[in-house]
Amino acid sequence: MAEMLIGGERAGAADTIAVVDPATEQELDRVPRGGRAEVDRAVQAASAAFASWSRTDPGERAAILAAGADAVEAEAAALVDSLVHEQGKPPLEARGELSHFLGGIRYYAGLATKVRGAYQPLPSTFGPAYGLVVRRPIGVVGAIVPWNFPLTLLANKIGPALAAGNTVVAKPAETTPLTTLRVAELLIGAGLPAGVLNVVTGFGVEAGEALASHPLVRRVAFTGQTSTGRRIMELAGPRFARVSLELGGSDPTIVCPDADLDEAAKSIAIGRYWNAGQACLAPKRAYVFDEVYDAFLDKLAGRVSRYQPGPGWEKAEKPHIRIGPLHLARQRDVLADQLADAVDRGAKVVVGGGVPEGRDTGHFFEPTIVVDAPHDSRVVREETFGPVLPVFRVSDLDEAIRLANDSDYGLGSSIWTTDAKAIHRATQEVEAGITWVNQLHYGYDEMPFGGVKGSGVGKEHGVESLDEYVELKSAVVGGLG
Ligand code: NAD
Repeated sequence: MAEMLIGGERAGAADTIAVVDPATEQELDRVPRGGRAEVDRAVQAASAAFASWSRTDPGERAAILAAGADAVEAEAAALVDSLVHEQGKPPLEARGELSHFLGGIRYYAGLATKVRGAYQPLPSTFGPAYGLVVRRPIGVVGAIVPWNFPLTLLANKIGPALAAGNTVVAKPAETTPLTTLRVAELLIGAGLPAGVLNVVTGFGVEAGEALASHPLVRRVAFTGQTSTGRRIMELAGPRFARVSLELGGSDPTIVCPDADLDEAAKSIAIGRYWNAGQACLAPKRAYVFDEVYDAFLDKLAGRVSRYQPGPGWEKAEKPHIRIGPLHLARQRDVLADQLADAVDRGAKVVVGGGVPEGRDTGHFFEPTIVVDAPHDSRVVREETFGPVLPVFRVSDLDEAIRLANDSDYGLGSSIWTTDAKAIHRATQEVEAGITWVNQLHYGYDEMPFGGVKGSGVGKEHGVESLDEYVELKSAVVGGLG
């Protein structure tokens, strides 16, 4: 059985949780069902470690994180295998996730030596003086991570938090704790002092709530559903703990008449069906100009028909492309209900539409394209967290932008065109944290990323991520002569 990591030691709990392979529905392993007591021990350990980690030379912090990335890379094959089995994604996607994790940790390690303050000359009203603006680490960070990208979303939090001198208690999703535990063990083995990084496993309403509401947790970094984000804010709010909430999305993509349709179809297909459609920043609504609608739909349908659902570890025969199962059975049911709601109200399924034949075991769902869905149907109003893409016909950019913005979410967005005016309007007018232009929806470590509206608050990625893990303190220095 896998164990938690508290104060540099492995730790268990009175009860355990089964971790299940979503392709076979078989138990893979068990992890401790951590609760309030285990979270408290981990937070106390992180709080005790903060005094010395926050004062550790930033260059040394960077070196330890970089050594951790090397240790993780040395075990890449086993970690990829573990991720394939506990999450469901095929090895190609798991390798992509691991390399994004490594790139992230190395990027944030490099930032450890770049935390800068400011010098401010002051008027000599009360004698000669100058001001300093100091950036200090905050303290204990609670990092709560979902199951869709367990490693990259962990890196986004522990990377800048540890680089800036904070200590962390991480809680992976109860269904994907195994790879996280091993990665954390490798990072600790590479030199993170005891208590600097702790991992508590358990359910959201138990371990997650205990972490978000712990008085010593000064900062909560959360990725997950919008409804859970609301709860995190309620828990962290009363003690004014800082929060970042990376929540759900329903990204629009706009395909203009001059778009490179092959590139657009390829990138939208990869973006939407990668990770079996379980990505926050996937294009989830396509608005296609009338002039190119039929041609685009043809190209997209051709690509999407090549996906073949199956267990991640089984290769699909060319020209098929493997797509893994959905992570949870209940999530497949929600997706089927969302699609049925659109179809009942007149939408047509162009490709896919249900559980693939012969795949009754495992949470498989066919990659699906649906057209003519009503704009108030569930596939539009709600986040579809699976391989379903509604495609709509639009007559001009005004209509495309109006429909793109007609959503409670505002995470990502994209436009396919080389028309400078259309690009300008999309980057200025689409309500989202990011607009990709002629590009796959992808979260670069170098670019700040985070949503607006129901998609959350705060930024991950970029040098800006450091600002999320420091607090400003002013000093006024007098007595100068
Ligand atoms: P979730 O909200 O159910 O769970 C996420 C994490 O929060 C898990 O570790 C869970 O155990 C914990 N949790 C659940 N309830 C909790 C509570 N009451 N208090 C504290 N912690 C709690 O989300 P999920 O279904 O695992 O993840 C999918 C969601 O994440 C999707 O909506 C997706 O769009 C979103 N997401 C957003 C981003 C982003 O950067 N904006 C990235 C990836 C995923």
